[in-house]
Amino acid sequence: MQKSTKSLLALALIVLVVFSADTVLLFQSKPAVDTDTLFQVAAFNTFSMGNFTGVMTYSELGKHGDFGIGTFDGLNGEMIALNGVFYQIPSDGVPREVNASMTTPYATVTYFHVDQTFTVSNLNYTQLKTRIDDALTSQGVIYAIKVTGTFGYAQTRSPAKQTQPYPLLADALKTQSIFNLNSVSATAAGFWFPSNMNGVDYAGYHLHLITDDHSAGGHMLDCIIQNATVEIEHINNYRLILP
Ligand SMILES: [Zn+2]
Repeated sequence: MQKSTKSLLALALIVLVVFSADTVLLFQSKPAVDTDTLFQVAAFNTFSMGNFTGVMTYSELGKHGDFGIGTFDGLNGEMIALNGVFYQIPSDGVPREVNASMTTPYATVTYFHVDQTFTVSNLNYTQLKTRIDDALTSQGVIYAIKVTGTFGYAQTRSPAKQTQPYPLLADALKTQSIFNLNSVSATAAGFWFPSNMNGVDYAGYHLHLITDDHSAGGHMLDCIIQNATVEIEHINNYRLILP
């Protein structure tokens, strides 16, 4: 083979490789959204030590899920996200839509896809947890949980905005507002974390609630469900942001 032919072949090969690389890049130019991952801002134990300064904007957080729970800079209320809409429930108890520039020191979100559904009726919170326990097929994965229906009673809470130097979470919650809601249509959303992840997140059930009319909500402390649909998603992937 002549030298010039070899050079041409080499050039063609380079062009092919570059073109292939470009083609791949073209297809990857929109970042692939991983829809089966729990995305978490900060380890729970780190947050609960009083690290309440917001470290990620809600516009950024919203790229990683349409469903979840969390809080705000300075522990300024409870967050619940449903169908891509993020709500803040401050200590006055009145939900409002989150502004994209607001920040979070701690949040867990995912793209919610139902794997299991069942209905429940006439259960208190303890009985609801037992009923969901029975449906969880593994003790080693994370579950996203959504409970939609009529609540004869729901008790929720929201912490007051804290000022620096920040107290421990346990101390900040001593001044939390408590809300007793009667006969509400509402959705509770959140997660179940396995005990072997305790500290990385909150082991067991952690649900936030918002009423259908968006007039009340908060971190769910107790409830009596009349009728509800429970939807569960199994999550095998986990991404933790260490601020
Ligand atoms: Zn909570």
